[in-house]
Amino acid sequence: MACRRPLHGAPRAEHASQRHGLAASFEGRGISAGASRTRYERVTPPSRPRSYRRFVPLLDAVLPRRCGVCGAIGSSLCDLCRPRLVLIAAPWCERCGAPGPWPVRRCAECAGRRLAFATARAAVVYDDTARRFVAAWKERARRDLTAVAAEVVVAALARPSSDAIAPVPPDRDRSLKRGHATAAELARELAESWEIPSLDLLERRPGIGPQRGLPRARRRSNVVRAFRPRRTSPRRVCLVDDVYTTGSTVTACATELRRAGARHVDVVCFARAVR
Ligand SMILES: [Zn+2]
Ligand SMILES: [Zn+2]
Repeated sequence: MACRRPLHGAPRAEHASQRHGLAASFEGRGISAGASRTRYERVTPPSRPRSYRRFVPLLDAVLPRRCGVCGAIGSSLCDLCRPRLVLIAAPWCERCGAPGPWPVRRCAECAGRRLAFATARAAVVYDDTARRFVAAWKERARRDLTAVAAEVVVAALARPSSDAIAPVPPDRDRSLKRGHATAAELARELAESWEIPSLDLLERRPGIGPQRGLPRARRRSNVVRAFRPRRTSPRRVCLVDDVYTTGSTVTACATELRRAGARHVDVVCFARAVR
């Protein structure tokens, strides 16, 4: 199994740890990285020059793949970590997709809320395992993990009957810094698998700051104004995001899609926070 493969003698192992720094940072937080424990001691990844990002695709081609969860060399999601992702299965809330003991039309989480989407579904529970995967995917520009995320979504969720797939637009500063936009890349992969056109229907409204660091109430009012349509929307749209947390972001996006002509918005995410 990839996770157990001894790393001693692997000529590129040290180089690879500089590339992703994954096992190293997990070690630093006291999370086991399996067989890599003795091999990777460094906690802080080295600082990377600006030009580094231009070479990431090249490095991805020549360096060995690392598990997005545990950092083990071998594949983008190793045989030990893949089954640790908890798939969300029915019964669930018909509207927001929260799993529960029986099927309901609205659940305690979404009852009384104005949700602009018809349904929201996510493939896996946003637990520690999924959180580590998403962190590697989002923060370390791991494009190989987009393919894995899409594969998990396609296996877990039914294909939506939509006219177009559209991503939640990336946070400009963050996506530029990271060098890629996870929701947009996931949308493109899903569009290919499901054979539905992928369209950039939305964009961030200029001058609206990022969500992080804001108090809860400000986050909500901030996100309401954060997006605007780029063009007329088809009737049925599948809106894609990486993680569903409170649903505020996708509701804000779905509201704008409806303003632009959409009549039915289904949300698809890789992971979902489950209370
Ligand atoms: Zn793993
Ligand atoms: Zn619900």
